[in-house]
Amino acid sequence: MFSFQSINQYHSFLEKNEDGCSIAVNHYLSEIEKKKQLNAFLEVYTNEVIQRAKELDEKRKAGKPIGKMHGVIVGLKDVICYKGHTVSAGSKILENFKSIYSATVVEKLLQEDAIIIGRQNCDEFAMGSSSENSAFGPVRNALDESRVPGGSSGGSAVGVQAGLTMISLGSDTGGSVRQPADFCGVVGLKPSYGRISRYGLIAYASSFDQIGIFSKTIEDAALCLAVISGADDFDSTVSEKPVPAYASELVAAPRKYRIAYFRQAFEHPGLDPIMRTAITDLIDRLKQEGHTVDPIEFEYLKHIVPTYYVLTTAEASSNLSRFDAVRFGYRAPLVSSELNDMYKASRSAGFGKEVQRRIMLGTFVLSSGYFDAYFTKAQQVRRILYNKSVDVFKDYEAIISPTVPSTAFKIGEKSDDQVAMFLADIYTVFANLVGIPAISIPLFTHENGMPFGLQIMTNHFEETKMLQLSEQLISS
Ligand code: GLN
Repeated sequence: MFSFQSINQYHSFLEKNEDGCSIAVNHYLSEIEKKKQLNAFLEVYTNEVIQRAKELDEKRKAGKPIGKMHGVIVGLKDVICYKGHTVSAGSKILENFKSIYSATVVEKLLQEDAIIIGRQNCDEFAMGSSSENSAFGPVRNALDESRVPGGSSGGSAVGVQAGLTMISLGSDTGGSVRQPADFCGVVGLKPSYGRISRYGLIAYASSFDQIGIFSKTIEDAALCLAVISGADDFDSTVSEKPVPAYASELVAAPRKYRIAYFRQAFEHPGLDPIMRTAITDLIDRLKQEGHTVDPIEFEYLKHIVPTYYVLTTAEASSNLSRFDAVRFGYRAPLVSSELNDMYKASRSAGFGKEVQRRIMLGTFVLSSGYFDAYFTKAQQVRRILYNKSVDVFKDYEAIISPTVPSTAFKIGEKSDDQVAMFLADIYTVFANLVGIPAISIPLFTHENGMPFGLQIMTNHFEETKMLQLSEQLISS
């Protein structure tokens, strides 16, 4: 019976098993089939991965050097392009659209011998917190199928949670990797803005979007991060900073950290009291162990979700204007010879409700007359938040918080209550607004049986420190 603990353990298994990649691929294909009802995958590349596994097994047999992700089975959120494969962003408007090139992350993974097993379900255009906004039906949480897995990268989180992939890639614009990781009890990492190329990622809000990683262990997240990070001629927003060997730096000796937390975040009435207690107990324990853990004032808490939604919907309204039914995507049956009628009919039928709402909101906040009151104001708040993060990181190395204020809710429970749904993002959007790295690590189990995580944020490009602290906390 094949079982997966970590990439390193899997690589030792491959050393002893000539057909190891094929064994792994068969195992995952049958697990995906058995757990179909979770609706985590929109497509599985069955024949391709069987073939690829054979080729990789041959490569090892021939004694050729192997890649860092050799045989590692990876799932891709349905917003990441893979040449010749469908990418639909969970939307009818792109149903059956085939990528004409691969995202940089996909190229990098393939160069290091990864096996891409399929395309994972998500909220349409990555807009949502529950994976209920997919045009292809909701994703189910494997621990309790009546509950959501979080979103928008729900299929990718469930992929790792339910043992359907070793690693999944998602995207995180306001929490879409960390929030489902929290709901599913896995590791979810969003790097600094500019660490990973966004080339080939279908854009939601370009100044927020980052590709992120789901894994079972911190070490696997570190290994994958090192492979997919780094400068790219196709994305000028990626940093030229060298990419550290994150995984080998993980083994640093345990040490004492200077940690901050936002007082208002812990006092927020929306935070589940059991979660508050669990994290407060952790803080007490860390203090006893000699870490500095201080509350700091964060008077902007109530502004961060509105700021996030003004700015991201503005960017989305512009990004999604390319889906015009002329060059690609769904085109509604023609109702008149007017071009505008064709746009309207196609976009009204092709986009789901949530996406339409956001395009309208974004168009509104950018319209003349309202631009300064909303968009400019929100940009100013974004700068204030950035300055706040600069101040905090003068004195502290990390900021901790819950990842989400509650555990996974029931399917349908919040779909009619937009404001309640937006509250799920209250702790995650800060990192995207200021561009810093953040991770959710699975540390706790609630009385209701569901897991929840701790979020750790560090300063720009301090992923190494974030991963080291995560490893130290998870293994203590
Ligand atoms: N829940 C947030 C939203 O709906 C975050 C989405 C994301 O990170 N892609 O915008």
